[in-house]
Amino acid sequence: MNTNYVQFTEEMKSTHTLLIPNMLPIHFRLVQRVLENAGYKTELLETHGPHIAETGLKYVHNDTCYPAILVIGQLIDALQSGKYDPHKCALLQFQTGGGCRASNYVSLLRKALINAGMDDVPVIPLGLSGIETHPGFPNSVPLFYRMAHAVLYGDLLMAIVNQVRPVEKNKGEAMALCNKWTDVLVKDLEHGINARRMRKNYRAIIRDFAKIPREDRKPVRVGVVGEIYVKFSPLGNNYLDDFLVSEGAEVVMPGLLDFFNYCVYNGIMDFELYHLGGAKHLMNRIAYKFLCAKQADMIAAIKEEGTFRPMTPFTHTVDLAKDFVGHGTKMGEGWLLVAEMIELADSGVMNIVCTQPFGCLPNHICGKGMMKPIKEKIPGANIVAIDYDAGASAVNQENRLKLMLSAARRNQDG
Ligand code: SF4
Repeated sequence: MNTNYVQFTEEMKSTHTLLIPNMLPIHFRLVQRVLENAGYKTELLETHGPHIAETGLKYVHNDTCYPAILVIGQLIDALQSGKYDPHKCALLQFQTGGGCRASNYVSLLRKALINAGMDDVPVIPLGLSGIETHPGFPNSVPLFYRMAHAVLYGDLLMAIVNQVRPVEKNKGEAMALCNKWTDVLVKDLEHGINARRMRKNYRAIIRDFAKIPREDRKPVRVGVVGEIYVKFSPLGNNYLDDFLVSEGAEVVMPGLLDFFNYCVYNGIMDFELYHLGGAKHLMNRIAYKFLCAKQADMIAAIKEEGTFRPMTPFTHTVDLAKDFVGHGTKMGEGWLLVAEMIELADSGVMNIVCTQPFGCLPNHICGKGMMKPIKEKIPGANIVAIDYDAGASAVNQENRLKLMLSAARRNQDG
């Protein structure tokens, strides 16, 4: 394995702060706490504004994927902000290690650091692919185990907040309760993970949100799918959530756990289709079963209380894709992107925004490229593809969204 990079050593654990670009506001606060419980000093970067993309473009070629431009821009901007000592920082980059340009983000960040005169800053790729080792940051199973639980809580909060936010009588109440619960869960995660306590927390969270006074109206529901960064990150999608809520719509966003599961399931498919990764095959099967069982617990808790719509079980999402795309299609968000559009339509969410970085070939094929066959098989599917890029106009994006919403309202009335 190549070790020709600045390593994050054991000693750095006590001297360095890990800077983490924030992709999902709710989830990443919980993930951050998991890392702090494991002994790391961390800082979640919540900076925003056009200067982030401008910094990215200074250090990354403008042909590069927009998520890379933003993430690298945000990290370099933090190091240059004067707020941190770059000699006492390390950068944590979430890394899917996919076969498209996703596996190049770490090299691009290191190149940007060299150009910015900060090549001694360690970069730690965090992902399931385990492409690098760092003595001070082992890509360990227990760490992923704890992170998976933080992601589960994040998915539950996100799903419920999205259902309450457009119809809450007192604006801001759902987000305030979400922040309160995030603080509670952050403390709770310090005590380790206990399945029974998690189920108890699920029920308490759901009950608390169900008490929020809500208007008696059915908002237009809009599903959001797409490339993982621009789908989830407000910085990446120009605050798409807020825009849709301001238009009176309810956002339906398949959770982050589905993406984790997609990565694990792809490992299983690698073996079944190509006989690759034999040693990892059993591990992948165990992880897949575990994650699906955990999701089933959450779905059961939501159904039991009865106020909110639960997420679709991932096993069903997998099945739904079968008539449209092969499970070997795994560049970018691959078959998952197709499956999530069908899953939304299958659960009655006919209005869908497919977010994609401009120039992202894999997601243009599985996103924009699959819209026609999906619309042919599912009449009434109202799908709009929105490209995000440093040069894309927010007004243009909003106009396209407004067009989709006006069709959605017409369909709802008719
Ligand atoms: S999925 Fe698209 S945006 Fe993401 S790394 Fe691959 S090509 Fe780039």
